[in-house]
Amino acid sequence: MIVVPLGIASATPTITRHLPSVALWREGSIFLFDAGENAQMRLLQAGLKRSKIDTIFISHLDIDHISGLVGLLATFQLQRREKSLRFVGPKGLKEYIEWHIQFSKLEVGYALDFIELDEGFEHAVVVDEEEYTVEARPLKHSIFCIGYRFEEKDKPGKVDADKASELGITEDEQFKALKAGETIILADGTQVKPHDIVGHPRPGDSFAYITDTEYCPEAVKLATNANILYHEATFGENLEDKAAMNGHSTASDAARVATEAQAKLLVIGHFSARYTNPFVLLKEAREKFFPTWLATELRPIFTDPAHEKGIVQAKVVLKELNDKDDKKSYSKGPHKGKSGFRPRKKRMGEDRGQRRDGGSYRSRGGYDGPKRDDSRSDRGGSMDRSQSSGSREHKPITPRPRYDDYDRF
Ligand SMILES: [Zn+2]
Repeated sequence: MIVVPLGIASATPTITRHLPSVALWREGSIFLFDAGENAQMRLLQAGLKRSKIDTIFISHLDIDHISGLVGLLATFQLQRREKSLRFVGPKGLKEYIEWHIQFSKLEVGYALDFIELDEGFEHAVVVDEEEYTVEARPLKHSIFCIGYRFEEKDKPGKVDADKASELGITEDEQFKALKAGETIILADGTQVKPHDIVGHPRPGDSFAYITDTEYCPEAVKLATNANILYHEATFGENLEDKAAMNGHSTASDAARVATEAQAKLLVIGHFSARYTNPFVLLKEAREKFFPTWLATELRPIFTDPAHEKGIVQAKVVLKELNDKDDKKSYSKGPHKGKSGFRPRKKRMGEDRGQRRDGGSYRSRGGYDGPKRDDSRSDRGGSMDRSQSSGSREHKPITPRPRYDDYDRF
């Protein structure tokens, strides 16, 4: 299971954050949770194929969570999609989509299936497939809003291949039967029981998507033991009154849900535009629940990095062009370095070319003080020279958060 935040802003997008949307990749299929404006472009940029979208889950009908839907439907049409598309969301979603299709005379050539939930529902299993289920519960927002839990069913235990070949099991049919819990009889009359070669069933992964809401017990139920809990953290604790007034959570509320639910990892997103530095929210959440990460747009979160790494890779790194204060070299870029961390802000007196890992971007001799503009052209290293051909180096705006270790989970 791979979770890719596509948009982590709340109501208004900012220069670095898009409107809410989160993609879940599982075995080649994509499940979209909310579709804010630009969601389809962010999918492309994340390295996710739009055609692989199986189901779209909508939390509520605020426009910032659904403004990306209609464009996506039009793209499917142009791509000549044939596979049906499933929507799950609050009552009114069908009407919203059908009105747009009608108004813009979109000739949708694929089936649209709707599962709508009405205000007042308490709990529903909205999707039940062979390998996974999705359950929904109402949240506590200013309008009717739904939280989701995507859960894989237990996976069959692993087959001990050496033991199987020792016993003389070769046919696919035999393996299938054993995995299904049946006893088989070999040609020589030997009985092989499932537990002889098949290990214990492995628990499936789970993902809870909880936004927009105040703290509520329903959220805890959805997040119970979840591998990844994506929870909104619109505000900091100092704005808890504002959060309560608007039906939103603080970072500390998100941590409370994660703690009570005993989630394995909390990922916070849906940040108010006032937080240009969301690390204050991360700090607040980590005080109550340490395994918390900041959602970073396009950066995948894996439940099984050993097998999933490299499957989904972002195609772009956005750059901010007008940052006057930051003229350091980012020549390694967020995806190139061993650690991938953005170079740390330099302290007074520290060598300008010193990297975190102890290496140097350039020879030490070429630099003679903190004068900026005039010293740039004669810095020693070739990396700097190649970087400074334009007016100044640019800072990536989707850097890897420096406190997080995305490879660890
Ligand atoms: Zn929202």
